Amino acid sequence: MIPRIDLQQQINPTYFSFLEALADSGFRGDIERGYASRLAVATDNSVYQCLPQAVVFPRSSQDLVVMLTLAGKEAYRDIRFSPRGGGTGTNGQSLNDNIVVDLSRHMHQLLTLDAEGRRVRVQTGMVKDKLNQLVAPQDLFFSPDLSTSNRATIGGMINTDASGQGSLVYGKTSDHVLGVTAVLVDGTLIETGPVSGEALDQKLEEDSREGELYRCVYHSVTGHAGEIERRFPKLNRFLTGYDLKHVYDKHTHTLDLTRILCGSEGSLAFITEAWLDLTPIPKYRTLVNVKYDSFQSALRNAPLMVEAKALSVETVDSRVLNLAREDIIWHSVSDLIRDVPGKVMDGLNMVEYADQDEAAQRDKVEALCARLDELIKRGEAGIIGYQRCDDLASLNRIYAMRKKAVGLLGNAKGRKKPVAFVEDTAVPPEHLADYIMEFRQLLDDHGLQYGMFGHVDAGVLHVRPALDLTDPEQEVMLRRISDQVNALTAKYGGLMWGEHGKGYRSEYSPVFFGETLFTELRRIKSAFDPFNRLNPGKICTPLDSLEQLVSVDATKRGFFDRQIPVHVRDGFTQAMDCNGNGLCFDFEVRSPMCPSMKLTADRRHSPKGRAGLVREWLRQLSAQGFDPMAEEAAVMSRGTSVKGMVERIKHTLARRRGEYDFSHEVKEAMDGCLACKACSSQCPIKVDVPTFRARFLQLYHQRYQRPPKDYLVSWVESYTPWMAKAPGLVNPVMKNQWVKRGAASWLGMVDMPLVSNPSLKTLLADGPAGQFDLARLQGLSAEQKAKTVLIVQDPFTSFYDAQVVFDLVRLAKALGFAPVVLPFKPNGKAAHVKGFLRRFAAMAADSAQFLNQLARLGIPMMGVDPSLVLCYRDEYDKILGPARGDFEVLLPQEWLLRVLEQIPARQPAGEPWYLFAHCTEKTAKPATHQDWGRIFGHLGARLEPVAVGCCGMAGTYGHETRNLEGSRTLYGLSWAEPMGRLPRERCLATGFSCRSQVKRMEGQPVKHPVQALLSLLA
Ligand SMILES: Cc1cc2nc3c(=O)[nH]c(=O)nc-3n(C[C@H](O)[C@H](O)[C@H](O)COP(=O)(O)OP(=O)(O)OC[C@H]3O[C@@H](n4cnc5c(N)ncnc54)[C@H](O)[C@@H]3O)c2cc1C
Ligand code: SF4
Ligand code: SF4
Repeated sequence: MIPRIDLQQQINPTYFSFLEALADSGFRGDIERGYASRLAVATDNSVYQCLPQAVVFPRSSQDLVVMLTLAGKEAYRDIRFSPRGGGTGTNGQSLNDNIVVDLSRHMHQLLTLDAEGRRVRVQTGMVKDKLNQLVAPQDLFFSPDLSTSNRATIGGMINTDASGQGSLVYGKTSDHVLGVTAVLVDGTLIETGPVSGEALDQKLEEDSREGELYRCVYHSVTGHAGEIERRFPKLNRFLTGYDLKHVYDKHTHTLDLTRILCGSEGSLAFITEAWLDLTPIPKYRTLVNVKYDSFQSALRNAPLMVEAKALSVETVDSRVLNLAREDIIWHSVSDLIRDVPGKVMDGLNMVEYADQDEAAQRDKVEALCARLDELIKRGEAGIIGYQRCDDLASLNRIYAMRKKAVGLLGNAKGRKKPVAFVEDTAVPPEHLADYIMEFRQLLDDHGLQYGMFGHVDAGVLHVRPALDLTDPEQEVMLRRISDQVNALTAKYGGLMWGEHGKGYRSEYSPVFFGETLFTELRRIKSAFDPFNRLNPGKICTPLDSLEQLVSVDATKRGFFDRQIPVHVRDGFTQAMDCNGNGLCFDFEVRSPMCPSMKLTADRRHSPKGRAGLVREWLRQLSAQGFDPMAEEAAVMSRGTSVKGMVERIKHTLARRRGEYDFSHEVKEAMDGCLACKACSSQCPIKVDVPTFRARFLQLYHQRYQRPPKDYLVSWVESYTPWMAKAPGLVNPVMKNQWVKRGAASWLGMVDMPLVSNPSLKTLLADGPAGQFDLARLQGLSAEQKAKTVLIVQDPFTSFYDAQVVFDLVRLAKALGFAPVVLPFKPNGKAAHVKGFLRRFAAMAADSAQFLNQLARLGIPMMGVDPSLVLCYRDEYDKILGPARGDFEVLLPQEWLLRVLEQIPARQPAGEPWYLFAHCTEKTAKPATHQDWGRIFGHLGARLEPVAVGCCGMAGTYGHETRNLEGSRTLYGLSWAEPMGRLPRERCLATGFSCRSQVKRMEGQPVKHPVQALLSLLA
């Protein structure tokens, strides 16, 4: 039995008392002190881990004023703060051991949109893609780009001066910030923007906090103009933190403090609101994919593209290219990047052009193509061919391929994982090829694996060498390589932090800036934050401070991970491998990843949060000498004992009395998970929360009693077949108000569905399906077998939505096949979701034996509900291993696609149907929409996919009383709108849960796609 984990890092008493005072001070945001909440922000995408004292989530600028004014009291002078946005930094920018102030949860409103003036004012917790979604109807966008645009915030972008693809034309974030509202460490609220001429002179004279800042910055930049000019590299990715070069324009006598704040990594002020300028969305876009015989040729050829006025030039090396080729994603681009016969493509430049003017766009693209033709003819520059695409869909396919391939780099097998620490160096583009050759040599000398890609137009190279940081020697290697790369960038006139900011690399700043300028940075820090209270250790310290800058040697995640024994780490790779890239924080409500995160805006309730908690849980257990792997093995083989039950009751009572156990915090985070499995396929690392969640629940409930509803859910496949036999008796009971109330309060279950009436058995009684008779099936000829299909029942569709199974039978028959409905065998999914793994293993073994036996018949088998069919593939594989055998249960669309050519095609016509695919299905099988579309097209109908996230039901999640509100909110996020807009009778949903949720929320059911197909054949 797992021991109680009462160890947790205590909060420093001064911080504790500050947080108490803050709660009584009029601060309206959330204050979280729990260990789990602190852990959730102890990591970002970097190699570092640092536990804060607490996390607070302000709701407004005023909240920050309140907080910082309180912190100004003598008793709280030691309290420090670190701002945080999306937490996607790659170098620990937002990590610290003080109070993390997260602006992303509540401060994400669009405040003013001035479309005519092409500007917008936002709260800085807004995610970049969200902003672009809101301004797109005005044909405008916020142009600085970054790969994390679906989760990084404007505040984070401003503070790292983010940029990415297209930066030659669109610039960096600082080029688009017109002014900000910032709260200084003493609670003063300032507005920034360009101040010129007399107004600036007045500011410089002002006897105020603001005047002091203007004077300090002005004297720093005017007093050292020559040195600034000499030191700051002349790069598109100019030097960030603090940008002395662009803050003052002597020709117009204009000073803009915004420029100093951009790239300051939260070390000068909290930026709460910002005016941003917007750019018209280009009307015409073209991508020219230029193929090379080597990566080096691609790099050396890049300046030509820049000369040819490209918007952006992105490159990938052969490793990235090959990863893409080996992945299913290659199918989507293989016609756009065709192989060149007789040549090996080992480098690729993706050259984009964009313009508002069609003729200008055409001229630029044609000029490049003419130049390429010439080079190919002369056999020069290693160019082996090129292809262009002008439509947005193709462009997006190419970029999606690049993104996926880069993600695949992170999914390396083994203990060595790609890590960020030299991942964004920049050198002048004309030196990039030579620089990269030396860089490669350096990494090769250390025997490291890596893939490279980057923005060659801006001289930015992305590379994450694979290291195992649980090995202390490799941590030493990280430091060595870091120093070497820093020196190498200097040799080529570039910089180490070309894109992502400094964070723990701040220790390189003094040498980089030189003593004079670094002293000026410290002077500026002193003016803004004299006592080093804002994100201390980052960028620089105040002038008189003796404190150190943070260092590359700071405590890393590997330090904690290595405390977990190797076999436990290997047994829980699902949680260990999360690298914190934050893709699971995706703001987009129409994306399936991750509903619980979207619902709560609480990072604990994300795959990353859950993985981090499980890692800490394993570490804490290991610290007590407990082996969770051994316990798991024991639980799988031992039965229930009276002693165990007594212990469980004792511990459960202690829990009720409020006894702390870190396992409860982990459990709380697991309870919020809908087990939708979106993470298991959408996360680039395939962090599969439902799998480790089930394992956690199994161990947790060895110590603590389960609630009755867990048993109710996990036994559903045992009692439902009985209930389904007598719908006339069961349904009136289920509909009874007293029973409903009792179920809601005692069992914690609501809106339980009614069993089908008539039942499937009754529907099938008139014999549309052949009787299951193994001997008869064995005796069929090969021809007859090819015309037969076996339908595998699941408990939900068969007993609660029998008409769908019946219609599937009728469809198969109408298409000329002989359907046979197999006897019901429990699938076990519900038991798995609740962590009854021993029972699940037994059910899976039984079912697999049955299905393997049938598979030997050589007749296709097809199930109905996606999540149960996919359970045969994934959960069965994980629990049974090779004992699963090789039976195959197809999804309806998979079977239909196999037989499609035997069915006469028709011309698509009529009103479209609308497909709402199940989350588990569309994430595990990205071609779901296309597959159904092909089938509908073949049978003479049009099908349009509807982009939706989770419907909020997800198995039994939405039926649990405690989840009811969340379930309804989730439905409202992305389903309610299209369901209200589209003709209901033409809306189709593949999931039983989704259909139940629509029925509950809209009072009307929707069909399964097979029912629509059946109507087409009628
Ligand atoms: C896979 C991956 C790809 C990436 N690609 C790019 C890329 O293409 N281009 C790029 O530029 N970056 C990239 N990054 C880095 C990262 O996404 C950016 O630095 C981003 O701007 C950080 O935004 P955030 O909201 O996550 O900020 P956080 O990481 O939370 O914070 C970043 C810094 O900003 C400070 N901060 C945040 N909000 C505020 C505020 N309101 N007031 C004051 N200080 C604040 C924090 O203290 C911290 O120092 C990538 C990261 C990953 C993981
Ligand atoms: S769970 Fe996956 S998507 Fe989320 S941070 Fe971890 S690796 Fe990234
Ligand atoms: S299963 Fe779904 S709800 Fe749970 S962590 Fe994964 S994406 Fe989030």
